[in-house]
Amino acid sequence: MKYIGPHVSASGGVDNAVTNAVKLNANAFGLFTKNQKQWFAKPLEKETIKQFRDLCEKHDFQPFQILPHDSYLINLGHPEQEGLKKSRTAFLDEMQRCELLGLDRLNFHPGSHLRKISEEECLNTIAESVNITLDKTRGVMAVIENTAGQGSNMGYRFEHLAHIIERVEDKSRVGVCIDTCHAYSAGYDLKSEEGYVNTWNEFDRVVGFDYLKGMHINDSKKEFGSRVDRHHSLGEGTLGIELFQRLMNDQRFNHMPLILETPNDEIWAEEIAMLRSFVR
Ligand SMILES: [Zn+2]
Ligand SMILES: [Zn+2]
Repeated sequence: MKYIGPHVSASGGVDNAVTNAVKLNANAFGLFTKNQKQWFAKPLEKETIKQFRDLCEKHDFQPFQILPHDSYLINLGHPEQEGLKKSRTAFLDEMQRCELLGLDRLNFHPGSHLRKISEEECLNTIAESVNITLDKTRGVMAVIENTAGQGSNMGYRFEHLAHIIERVEDKSRVGVCIDTCHAYSAGYDLKSEEGYVNTWNEFDRVVGFDYLKGMHINDSKKEFGSRVDRHHSLGEGTLGIELFQRLMNDQRFNHMPLILETPNDEIWAEEIAMLRSFVR
């Protein structure tokens, strides 16, 4: 079974995210549990939490079908103490919000070295940030997203994800999310059939499918290996439609949220229906 849905708006309250997903006939969704462009947010209100949980129950959304995403400001591999501290505080808050909402995973971008520390040092700092946060929370998994490798962002190699996982103490609470646009921009050929087979074999060898806890299903506006992160609607970008047909018929991507982060929200319902139509 495939669980598909977009990263929906939660404006006006996280409970609205559920309603937005239902309207699109989605059986998965992504969301921000706070404004993603701000450091701080007021705590979730009891009533909002209850509404969110009730709506999820009413519409049959279980935690494994939902993939919250953290704020873009957070850098868990920050080279400087002040920035690192601020990021860790904000990340803990995000994990706690997920805990309150009954969610079981939080997707985050690993972090950036800002050209002030080595890649290895940055990855070690990220792992340490995850350990600190997991110690203070319960039930929510930290899900590392691969990146396109823009600027000094880490996470553009499967080895980076493996490096972090290796240093996380509680392996039952760490996972990964693979974004197809990011992977292709980072130089993983997911387009050709041979590339598809090789990329996932490599992923399994380096990271392991057991750690895969979600996917971001996006086409790309940029060329293969460009290291630039620009999402496109399915079939309209440089990746093309075949990758998505293959994914829909690959049992390794069952039972996890497959989240669209495609730019045109007016065709989300069509994109979901199209993906479902690919399942043979
Ligand atoms: Zn992301
Ligand atoms: Zn993504």
